[in-house]
Amino acid sequence: MRAWVLDRPREPLRLREVTDPSPGPGEIAVEVSACGLCRTDIHICEGEIELPKLPVVPGHQAVGRVGARGRGVRRFREGDRVGVAWLHGTCGTCPDCARKDENLCRRARFTGYHVDGGFAERVVVPAAFAYALPPSLDDTHVAPLLCAGIIGYRALRQADVGSGETVGLYGFGSSAHIALQVARARGNRVFVVTRGERHRELARRMGADWVGDSGERPPEPLDRAVIFAPAGELIPQALEAVRWGGTVASAAIHMSPIPQMDYTKHLFGERTLRSTTASTRRDGEELLAFAGTHGITTEVTLFDDPNEGLRAIRNDAIQGSAVLRVK
Ligand SMILES: [Zn+2]
Ligand SMILES: [Zn+2]
Repeated sequence: MRAWVLDRPREPLRLREVTDPSPGPGEIAVEVSACGLCRTDIHICEGEIELPKLPVVPGHQAVGRVGARGRGVRRFREGDRVGVAWLHGTCGTCPDCARKDENLCRRARFTGYHVDGGFAERVVVPAAFAYALPPSLDDTHVAPLLCAGIIGYRALRQADVGSGETVGLYGFGSSAHIALQVARARGNRVFVVTRGERHRELARRMGADWVGDSGERPPEPLDRAVIFAPAGELIPQALEAVRWGGTVASAAIHMSPIPQMDYTKHLFGERTLRSTTASTRRDGEELLAFAGTHGITTEVTLFDDPNEGLRAIRNDAIQGSAVLRVK
């Protein structure tokens, strides 16, 4: 099969012929049609996070059809459309797994990071970690739900967003444009703070109640806020914008340094700051079901070369999500 391979960080991904992976016991092989591109893929390709495997095929928002099943698999049939997300597997036995906080498992393995991912014609995943997909979206439009969508969904939960509350979204890329729709569908008022007119235009089009430029303060205090951009300076900015008792959650996997904060100005009044770390299968299943029943859509730009797509994300040139067409 053909796959886009990262041989060394900071080098372009190269398309080449590699051995077809075959599913082991409990695994399925997925014939990939599309794979979403994510900021985490940039961190991997640039070596900004430690790389446990090289060469590696990145890509952790893969959509395709089950091509083969390993021994013991009963969950899917050949030909079923499935999604492959970031969480490839967990140990199942550590205290985090036992508490069902499998996103925190320190022995978790991630797709396109510890194991080869979806920038390829075929990807192998444990059947227990693959997802059935809502029929409401085609392959290229459903792909961004698998990381951007799931992380945004978990981040809204980390921010304790309750029904009818006001929510600030800081940064408006792939994840935020899905989270906005989820929050709106739940009856929240949504305020978006983002640089780039292209992002602000999309936020308005998707029904944001107020949209402002980076550095602007929403017109009223927020109950909750989620930070999507990997910019540390947004943390004190969002903490200042939430009311006393409010919560700020960061959805980022990697963030630039956070400026020094002032206890009274940024945290006093029982404001809470939280991170979001990967996601559980329950997050994925809930988001995909919610997307199917509430008509969640995605704004997608298609690429045939992942290097171009990742460059476009880095240059802030994508409105919504970038997706690699595989076949
Ligand atoms: Zn991702
Ligand atoms: Zn574990």
